[in-house]
Amino acid sequence: MIPANNPALVSWVDVPSGSDFPIQNLPFGIFSTENLSPRVGVAIGDMILDCEALADRGYLQDAGFPLELFAVDQLNPLIKQAGKLGMRLLRERLSDLLNDDGVELKSQEADRAACLIPQKEATLHLPIEVGDYTDFYSSEQHAYNVGCMFRDPDNALMPNWKHLPVGYHGRASSIVVSGVPIHRPCGQTRADDSDQPTYGPCRLLDFELEIGFVTFEGKALGQRISSAEAEDYIVGLFLFNDWSARDIQKWEYVPLGPFLAKSFASSISPWIVLLDALEPFRVAGPVQDPEVLPYLQQDGENFYDIGLSVGIETGQGDETIVSRSNFKHMYWSMVQQLTHHSSNGCNIRAGDVLASGTISGQDESAYGSMLELSWRGSKPVAMTDGTERRFIQDGDTVIMRGHGERQGVRIGFGEVRSKVLPAID
Ligand code: CA
Repeated sequence: MIPANNPALVSWVDVPSGSDFPIQNLPFGIFSTENLSPRVGVAIGDMILDCEALADRGYLQDAGFPLELFAVDQLNPLIKQAGKLGMRLLRERLSDLLNDDGVELKSQEADRAACLIPQKEATLHLPIEVGDYTDFYSSEQHAYNVGCMFRDPDNALMPNWKHLPVGYHGRASSIVVSGVPIHRPCGQTRADDSDQPTYGPCRLLDFELEIGFVTFEGKALGQRISSAEAEDYIVGLFLFNDWSARDIQKWEYVPLGPFLAKSFASSISPWIVLLDALEPFRVAGPVQDPEVLPYLQQDGENFYDIGLSVGIETGQGDETIVSRSNFKHMYWSMVQQLTHHSSNGCNIRAGDVLASGTISGQDESAYGSMLELSWRGSKPVAMTDGTERRFIQDGDTVIMRGHGERQGVRIGFGEVRSKVLPAID
C-alpha cells in the first residue's frame, strides 16, 4: 500500500465528517487570497495547506522541491519537474507533515498558522495551463444511447467503437475552472423543417458528466507509450463538465465531427486528485468483446469506483439531482485511452488533458447528459421547484460532484459548479 493511503492516518487539521479532503486525499490546486498571490496549495478538510509558505519555511527543500515550483499560478512546472515519483514523494511528505503522529509542523504554532488558509477565504484558479485537450467517447451506454437517438438501436455503436477508444481533439483555451459562469453560445443551426440555416443563441444547451485527467511530460515525438507504461504518465483526475450545444452539433458535425458545439467552454473542478490517492477504488472493467488488439491490452484493474452526481440549481435556488452515475461505467480505461492516443507517435506534454467522454450508467437515472436524461427533449425532467427541464436554461447552475469511499475513507473531488448566463448580444 502507498503509505499516504493508510486508512488509519489522522491529521491534526480538523477534517469534518463527509469532507472530500481527508489526509488520505491531498489533492493539488492553485489558490490566492486577498493578501496572497496565486500559489500551489493542497486541500485538507476545510483548509488549504499553502505549499509556497511551507517551502518558504524550509519544510520542502530537503525533499528536493525548491520554492519556485510552488510560487506559481499553475501546476505545470511542478508536475513537469517532479514526474510520477516526485509527486508521489511530495504527497508522502505532505502526509507526514499533516499526520497527527508527527511533530515537525504540528509543534510549530506560528508555521501552522502561516501555512493553513481557510478554503472560504481563498479563490481557486484553473490549476493547470492546459496544453492540448482530447475528449473521448468511452462509455458504452452513452455511445449506445446517442446511437439509438441519431441512428437506430441495431446500429447504435459504429463498427470501430469496440476496437478503439474513439476521440477527437478539443479546444484547450476555453477550459475554465469551477465558478466561472458560462454564456450561452451562439451558432449556426438548421431546423428539421427548413432547408436554410440560421444564426443565433443555442437552444439545446447541455452538460456532459465526465472525468478528465492531466498528464506528465511524455516521450519524444514519434515514440509510443505502452499500456504497461501509461499510468506513469497520469498525474491525477478532476471532474469535467464538457458543455455541448446539441442543436449546433447536429448541423455542423458532418463529416469531421465536433467543432463549435463543443469548443465554447468546458468546466473543471479545481483540485487534482492524484491517481495514487485513488488506488483503493480500483475495480475490474467490463469484459471487452471482441478482444482488443495487443497494443490495447492491459493488466490489472484499471477502472475506478467513483460515484458521480449532477445537480441543477434553478434561478430560484432549488437544487435537483438529475443524475447519479459512476466512473466505473467505462468501457475503455484511461490506460487504454492514453495508450491509443500515443499509438501513432503523437507526443503528450505536462499539462495536457484527456477526458473520459460522457459517463452514463445502464439505469436511466445514471445518464450523464440532458440529451439522454430527457431523451432528446421528449421526456422532461422534473425540478424540485415545480418547473421542468429538457435542456439547460439561462440562470441554471450545473453542479457536478464525485467521491469514492472505502474503509471509512472518503476521497472526493469537491465540485464543479457553473452558472449559465444569457448569450452575449
Ligand atoms: Ca464530451
